[in-house]
Amino acid sequence: MTTQSILLFTRDLRLSDHPALAAAASVGPVVPMFVWTGGPAGDRPLGAASRWWLAGSLEALARSLEAKGSRLLLRRGELAAEVLAVASATGARTVHVTRGYEPGAQRQFSALGAALVEHGIRLTEHSGRLLIEPEKLATKSGTPFKVFTPFWRAVQEHGVSGRPETASKLAPPKRWPEGDRLEDWGLRPSKPDWAKGFSPLWQPGEDGAWQSVERLIDGPLGNYGELRNRPDIDGTSRLSPHLTFGEISPRQLWQRLTVTAAAEPALQPGADAWLRELAWREFSYHLMHHWPSMTERALRQEFRDFAYRADVDGLSAWQKGLTGYPYIDAGMRELWTTGWMHNRVRMAVASFLVKHLLLSWREGERWFWDTLVDADAANNAASWQWVAGSGADAAPYFRIFNPITQGRKFDPNGAYVRKWVPELAKLPDALIHAPFEATGIELAAAGVGLGRTYPAPIVEHKFARDRALAALQSLKAVVP
Ligand code: FAD
Repeated sequence: MTTQSILLFTRDLRLSDHPALAAAASVGPVVPMFVWTGGPAGDRPLGAASRWWLAGSLEALARSLEAKGSRLLLRRGELAAEVLAVASATGARTVHVTRGYEPGAQRQFSALGAALVEHGIRLTEHSGRLLIEPEKLATKSGTPFKVFTPFWRAVQEHGVSGRPETASKLAPPKRWPEGDRLEDWGLRPSKPDWAKGFSPLWQPGEDGAWQSVERLIDGPLGNYGELRNRPDIDGTSRLSPHLTFGEISPRQLWQRLTVTAAAEPALQPGADAWLRELAWREFSYHLMHHWPSMTERALRQEFRDFAYRADVDGLSAWQKGLTGYPYIDAGMRELWTTGWMHNRVRMAVASFLVKHLLLSWREGERWFWDTLVDADAANNAASWQWVAGSGADAAPYFRIFNPITQGRKFDPNGAYVRKWVPELAKLPDALIHAPFEATGIELAAAGVGLGRTYPAPIVEHKFARDRALAALQSLKAVVP
């Protein structure tokens, strides 16, 4: 006997290695659907850059479903009401969904389950977004991990098992209910089109994800351990938005890299280093699972009442890439133009906001949420809290990145700054990260007018460092 099911897509916008879809397809016809609730079901309302990504990802998913003789049914509204309406129109008795870990997803899915049960419909949750479910890993004393290195050891000891679960065929329902048109959701900007820099760089969807995997393997993987620290070089995978929207599963990546490294031993160190980074993503989800409030407040109690400054002008200069520190400004402009920023630079700009400006990490987290195409509740909050010192396994409060030396170390020839802060392009390498150290003659020769064509620093480094240390010192008694 066949059973008709609904597959509710969330942050799992792919067809391959999709346990929920495979389960639905194995028992009968499937209605693949996506409900726009301001984000994918269970999510916090998406930021503008993520909405841009989602539009492309849903188009790609719809094309892949059509190629298999199916469709993507789009609905907009309250989750339970939309799912119930589609279930009653198609006679579906089961709804399959990939498990969500965000606090909002857990609340929404349990409310959805309760609403469906009243109509005799079952909600079944499946794995698919992580390598290992968060409750499966614990310290020897049975508590959740708070430190990454033992967590990573536990991931390796546990191993990543299971074969990819892909539906071999997708039977359509007899009748398709009415759906929305994606264009009517206004996910992409109209005027001004601030996302025009995104399209040449990104290809949302499953095919785009796999192209990034091939590019990684053929390109930087062999030297990933070193290249990953250089924002001036294309040395990382740029898979983060594909992972964030579930266009590829971490299990597929784990298996692909493991098999590749076994066949080509020279790639082993790079593959190990890359999979370790992937495990940071798992760690963020492990933390969010055990401390769901982490997305909104400091994990460490003692940081919760910390008196951050309010500085509208400072925040705005940081957002616009006009702080007067070229490395910071390059990062913030890369973010605005491309929807992405290199990890090394993310750490520096976050430290600048939280320590040089003493603004709350939540201001930065919100801006990243709006502007990143890979905005991810777990990774974003965990990383911001890592930099702020308020998270698990966090950078100590006295670690204050120097924006000048960070630039000189990771962008040694200034190519990254020249690309994103072109008004400084003619400065010599020795001055590119600190135009305020240049003489008037040197500035004039490079066509730079400090305070006119490029801002003077909005805060002096030594002053800011001393101010942050003094402010954070108050936490010293409790923070190691
Ligand atoms: P690669 O170097 O190729 O790494 C492979 C994958 O591993 C990434 O795609 C990502 O899924 C994971 N990964 C790598 N580094 C980290 C890390 N430090 N923490 C967690 N996972 C990691 N990442 C997001 O996906 N979404 C976010 O919203 C996000 N916000 C961040 C905010 C701050 C302040 C900082 C410092 C980091 C943030 N990161 C976030 C982590 C990291 O910067 C990005 O995952 C990485 O830059 C993505 O580029 P990539 O895919 O080329 O990475």
